[in-house]
Amino acid sequence: MYRTHTCGELRIAHVGEQVTLAGWVQRVRKMGGMTFVDLRDRYGITQLVFNEEVNAALCEQANKLGREYVIQIVGIVNERYNKNKNLPTGDVEIIVNTLTMLNQSEVPPFTIEDQSDGGDDLRMKYRYLDLRRSCVRKNLELRHRMCIEVRNYLSDLGFLEVETPMLIGSTPEGARDFVVPSRMNPGQFYALPQSPQTLKQLLMVAGFDRYFQIVKCFRDEDLRADRQPEFTQIDCEMSFVTQEDIIQTFEGMAKHLFKALRGIDITEPFLRLPWAEAMRRFGSDKPDMRFGMEFVELMDTLKGTGTFPVFNEAEYIGGICAKGCASYTRKQLDQLTEWVKRPQIGAKGLVYARVQEDGSVKSSVDKFYTPEVLLALKEQMQAEAGDLILILSGADTMRTRKQLCELRLEMGERLGLRDKNKFALLWVTEFPMFEWSDEEQRLMAMHHPFTHPMDADIHLLDTDPAAVRADAYDMVCNGVELGGGSIRIHDPHLQAKMFEILGFTPEKAQEQFGFLMNAFKYGAPPHGGLAYGLDRWVSIFAGLDSIRDCIAFPKNNSGRDVMLDAPAAIDQKQLDELYLQIDLPTAEA
Ligand code: ASP
Repeated sequence: MYRTHTCGELRIAHVGEQVTLAGWVQRVRKMGGMTFVDLRDRYGITQLVFNEEVNAALCEQANKLGREYVIQIVGIVNERYNKNKNLPTGDVEIIVNTLTMLNQSEVPPFTIEDQSDGGDDLRMKYRYLDLRRSCVRKNLELRHRMCIEVRNYLSDLGFLEVETPMLIGSTPEGARDFVVPSRMNPGQFYALPQSPQTLKQLLMVAGFDRYFQIVKCFRDEDLRADRQPEFTQIDCEMSFVTQEDIIQTFEGMAKHLFKALRGIDITEPFLRLPWAEAMRRFGSDKPDMRFGMEFVELMDTLKGTGTFPVFNEAEYIGGICAKGCASYTRKQLDQLTEWVKRPQIGAKGLVYARVQEDGSVKSSVDKFYTPEVLLALKEQMQAEAGDLILILSGADTMRTRKQLCELRLEMGERLGLRDKNKFALLWVTEFPMFEWSDEEQRLMAMHHPFTHPMDADIHLLDTDPAAVRADAYDMVCNGVELGGGSIRIHDPHLQAKMFEILGFTPEKAQEQFGFLMNAFKYGAPPHGGLAYGLDRWVSIFAGLDSIRDCIAFPKNNSGRDVMLDAPAAIDQKQLDELYLQIDLPTAEA
């Protein structure tokens, strides 16, 4: 037997017992004739004691241990004189009788501690060492518990977990596909699923009724902090349901997860916000509702009421009120202006107005407006003495709202209003069915082409498709989209019409989605579903800034696995078997 207990298990009740432990050497401390070793495994740390006077040879052996050596010891559990209140095992120590070296270790490239001295790249290169740190390990433990809770919750409701294939056909809608060449079908390619969307719909046609899968999905997109080329979805689909049924089921699941994993009781129903309202009040389809600072539209107050040309020419003027920020210095305001002008935000400038102690308003556009107009501004912003009004304007309402959204989030951050231990959950509903793509010069499905339009808007499909709302919904928490879905089209005629609006010829639609349209000819039930992003859920629960920290072996921002050094070139032999030739532009070659 390698061990009788783990390194996180022993307590005062074990005093006097002989135990065998195995683990990694966290640190060795020599104090006079005594040597203390912290032995670590994934369950915790236990202190080992070696006494030179009792057994000099053994103590000598202990003094030679290096960090991360793997050892096994046999000893007696002893009550500690100096108890360590910070460790669950801190009341006891082991008086060691035998020490067996199981393996040596080179000096690790960074310290295996929560506050490691290793930078991001180094830790990713040696991710197996990084994963020994308890702060990283805990995220994976949480992830595991989350999966168990999800499976139990859904299984209890009659959902079946069904696996769908990873090697499927490429679909043109949505993000870019990762493709895999087929050796047995020369010149042809599989694609890795961006989501099992059509397959789960086929399972509904097959009568499976309630499906789920915790499944890897792949999207070849440019990466951001909360994106990975491969990520995990909790993918679900149900038959004979309305939007309300789905929202009830998955809001229930969210509440269950909050209770089970964070001990938080959420009793109130989640807020529901139509997309247009979310955009108007927060400039985002995933508003962070932990704090207010809502947008106030100022066109009536500031457009045409003074001589400021920028406002007079703007299509949209919007303000937010930053409480207590009137004390911002000129320098701070200049910095904030530079901040909104960065290419990532793209605003042309920032107008501000301070509400002074006496209630008067001092603004960066004083010379263009009468004091009355500025007082009306204060009134409309519901600003009080000491507040700072920040205003953005622009020729494109959507774009300006997005910029103001970034500014609102930044001010929320600066004012400490984005508390990681506070959770503001909501559903965003009534998304537009389509959005115009400048790149493609056509309408694209905002969610995906299988989404059902809202019944009330179906009559607009021919006349005013841009005004059609989708029977779709997203769950949002703290400004993060935790998941989303829709009621699907199950009528083959409506699906064909949808492809037509999206610019597919009937032949192209048949070629790409014939399998689905065919299936719909054989009695497709009304159905709908949703997918939750597992990585994002875990990040929210663990308070992480990036989903990378809850993924065992994540990719970096260039989509590389620096530990495996992937992606990489393949052998000529492999290329030949696949009839592939590499033809890089010279710079990249
Ligand atoms: N397949 C969709 C997605 O991955 C989710 C859904 O509609 O169920 O975003």
